[in-house]
Amino acid sequence: MSDAVTNHVALRPNWSCVSCGQEWPCTVRKRRLKYLYQGNPAELGNQLRLWLEQARGELPALTEQELTDRFVGWTDRPVTRREPELS
Ligand SMILES: [Zn+2]
Repeated sequence: MSDAVTNHVALRPNWSCVSCGQEWPCTVRKRRLKYLYQGNPAELGNQLRLWLEQARGELPALTEQELTDRFVGWTDRPVTRREPELS
């Protein structure tokens, strides 16, 4: 497998995961990030805001709130698979 597949990286500009197809950061990547940055939430926040800045220009359909929720807001919640929206 290539690094791209094993590492659950973002497929840009639509920011879906190349490996599992979820909205990126996907569940697997979030778990890995939490593990990688455990004890260093400030550094994790810096990294996530960097991605948010990059995604802002490439995902114009998302509101600022949606961008924040997706890239930064998950860090203080348990990482679980996102349920499909019912609307
Ligand atoms: Zn993934």
